[in-house]
Amino acid sequence: MTDFAWTRDQFHLPEGVIYLDGNSLGPLPRATPDRVAQVMRPEWETMLITGWTKAGWHMKPETVGDRIAGMIGAEAGHVVVGDTLSIKIYQALAAAIALRPGRSVILSDTGNFPSDLYMAEGLARTLGNQTRLVTVPPEEVAAHLTDEVAVLMLTEVDYRTGRRHDMKALTEQAHAVGALTVWDLAHSFGALPVDLAGCNADFAAGCTYKYINGGPGAPAFIYVAPRHADVADTALQGWQGHEAPFAFDLGYRPASKVAKMRVGTPPVMQIAALEGALDVWDHVDIHDVRARSIELSERFIAGVEAHCPQLRLGAPRDPQQRGSQVSFHFEEGYAAMQAIIARGVIGDFRAPDIMRFGICPLYVSEADIDGAVEILADVMTNALWDRPEYKVRAIVT
Ligand SMILES: *Cc1c(COP(=O)(O)O)cnc(C)c1O
Repeated sequence: MTDFAWTRDQFHLPEGVIYLDGNSLGPLPRATPDRVAQVMRPEWETMLITGWTKAGWHMKPETVGDRIAGMIGAEAGHVVVGDTLSIKIYQALAAAIALRPGRSVILSDTGNFPSDLYMAEGLARTLGNQTRLVTVPPEEVAAHLTDEVAVLMLTEVDYRTGRRHDMKALTEQAHAVGALTVWDLAHSFGALPVDLAGCNADFAAGCTYKYINGGPGAPAFIYVAPRHADVADTALQGWQGHEAPFAFDLGYRPASKVAKMRVGTPPVMQIAALEGALDVWDHVDIHDVRARSIELSERFIAGVEAHCPQLRLGAPRDPQQRGSQVSFHFEEGYAAMQAIIARGVIGDFRAPDIMRFGICPLYVSEADIDGAVEILADVMTNALWDRPEYKVRAIVT
């Protein structure tokens, strides 16, 4: 049984803040500063370049990849860490398309995160437009699976509404028409149980700065199913994905299996920060997180609906159909979010009108939920959002 009082204690949370934005950037784990400092001193300071071997820096993408594999139902040796999620999606997609020659469609949905769609568009153009991206409403995905589809590329949990796809069923349906799947786990990893092998997923990628709390700029990861690992190609032939990077061959020879998805020099300090975050997860059962996330989310929805009739639920009402975030529609949602942030409740806003709240049981308690509802109710009831300074849009919302 996960001890959520203990997990909460593992994070630095500023006094007076109720943090409901861990779905965008998780808070700082207490152990992380020392973990990162250790890479600088003594490792970097005393080992200099020998740290790549002596401190194991070179293998971090794979050793930390294995830790992540164990958390998402992936086989050991089939996940590597590095780069950003956008880049890992590009690699996964390129590899999947190459395994389905003669098929012309990348199928995705209109709720997907723009970067995933931009990556797919750019890749299609690079491939001479023999492949095109088709986006359909999330509920129509299954109906658009035809034998033209090379790859079904979906984000399991919608970044705005929190709506969740059925990964297992859709993977099965994609396979039934001969398509492969690329699953984006951005809002799944650390939010709910993920079982890639159990779902028979082909490729997956995710980030570690959201629910995992790896810190701003924490690296992404990619999964390639064992059955594709030998044949999957990497679109980005970086030297770190070479079979023998230090042979400095003029020609590229891919490393084996998922190691070929490494690209360049790994971000060692960022990976150290990520390891600090993963140490907390060693004491956590994701099934407990899921159960608690549902409890807290239901409490939040009930409170908001009872006290804020101006807000309309944007997330599915059935908790099984949601990830670990709750969203509400409100026309002046941006201003309302600024008003509650000014009062210590941090969520975020997603255009055009979505107020988004991440429910992260590792450090969010019932008292936080009740406090957030109270402040939101005050802001809505008294129209405290209706002030010019709350309506000026920042670059990052
Ligand atoms: C957060 C997020 C991203 C971000 O990609 P980066 O390259 O890490 O900036 C991509 N896709 C989805 C679905 C996301 O939620």
